[in-house]
Amino acid sequence: MPKLSRRTADFTDSVIRRMTRISNKYGAVNLSQGFPDFEPPKEILKRLTEVANEDFHQYSITWGAQNFREALAKKHEHFTGMKIDPNSEIVVTCGSTEAMMSAMMSVTNPGDKVIVFSPFYENYGADTILSGAEPIYVPLVPPEFSFDADVLEDAFKKKPKALILCNPSNPCGKVFTYDELKIIADLAEKYDTFVITDEVYEHILYVPHKHTYFASLPKMRDRTISCGSLSKTYSITGWRLGYVIASPYIIDTVRKVHDFLTVGAPAPLQEAAVVGLRFGDDYYEDLQRKYTEKRELLLNGLDGLKISHTTPEGAYYVLLDISEFGYESDLVFCEKLAKEVGVGAVPGSSFFKEPENRYIRLHFAKKSSTLNEALNRLESFRKKMSL
Ligand code: GLN
Repeated sequence: MPKLSRRTADFTDSVIRRMTRISNKYGAVNLSQGFPDFEPPKEILKRLTEVANEDFHQYSITWGAQNFREALAKKHEHFTGMKIDPNSEIVVTCGSTEAMMSAMMSVTNPGDKVIVFSPFYENYGADTILSGAEPIYVPLVPPEFSFDADVLEDAFKKKPKALILCNPSNPCGKVFTYDELKIIADLAEKYDTFVITDEVYEHILYVPHKHTYFASLPKMRDRTISCGSLSKTYSITGWRLGYVIASPYIIDTVRKVHDFLTVGAPAPLQEAAVVGLRFGDDYYEDLQRKYTEKRELLLNGLDGLKISHTTPEGAYYVLLDISEFGYESDLVFCEKLAKEVGVGAVPGSSFFKEPENRYIRLHFAKKSSTLNEALNRLESFRKKMSL
């Protein structure tokens, strides 16, 4: 047989998605791939059943249904304070996964460099490879996951085309402060670099942390490509509804990439999700309250078991320190954890560029009963995981 493409030879399948399959195989409580096991808002589901009998079964306009873009523009304006033109500044994509990929393909040429903070959401590695770009990794140093401004500037001196910013951050739960974002913004301006943001956790924050939309920083609007999603905000990860928001100059190209990649996001689901985009502030306050409770439940449980962990400022992931066990491979650790303890986790090494082997990632977008079951199982953690 002829060889398959060189481009795909350099990366593996997603370890996050693989851990879901492994969890399913062993009947583990799956706290690996981050998705809820509770219901989406009932108003959205009700609208979905109505939509089945309405006229939404053919392609929407390739860059997103008018109704959806208008509702999204309004919502985004409300939270960012920026005026968004639904007709020239939005492309609706199949999840933020496609949004990020379309953004990368729109701004980079093969061989271009892209700054990625490490730890990073594993898709960014594959995104850079698939678009032919080369990542320059800048460490977010534990336990604060802060970056050194000089190290960041050194990366900018290599003339990157773009920087990828995940804020609030998966997997470390960091919420970048305004001052940190301003450092990035000043460097992006000085070195004339695009900033591609992944802001899918914009509404999942813990007091006192606040989200600053990167595009809202002075002079950043034109060089920011904001990627977002409805997956986490409305608990509809399977609907694959994401978007890119950027200036018309950028959106013009993102539209083309998106058009030839996927044609469009699912039309009936866009229509049903409009209801969610029109929710008032109380919905987002309630979401934060629910996630705050889940975070407390899991973190208190881990404290009770004397397992050391990070305390997320945003998003819904926690990194557990497994160094006491002395495993050489965190992947082996996670497979054994799923099989012997019955809890699915993601090996931390899949998020770090550095040879980091001391973390595993759990998420807490789950019902209290699911989290309690996971904590019950983790009681036997030390005994079963000792080498
Ligand atoms: N963002 C989720 C995670 O990190 C999963 C996203 C996905 O699998 N597409 O687990």
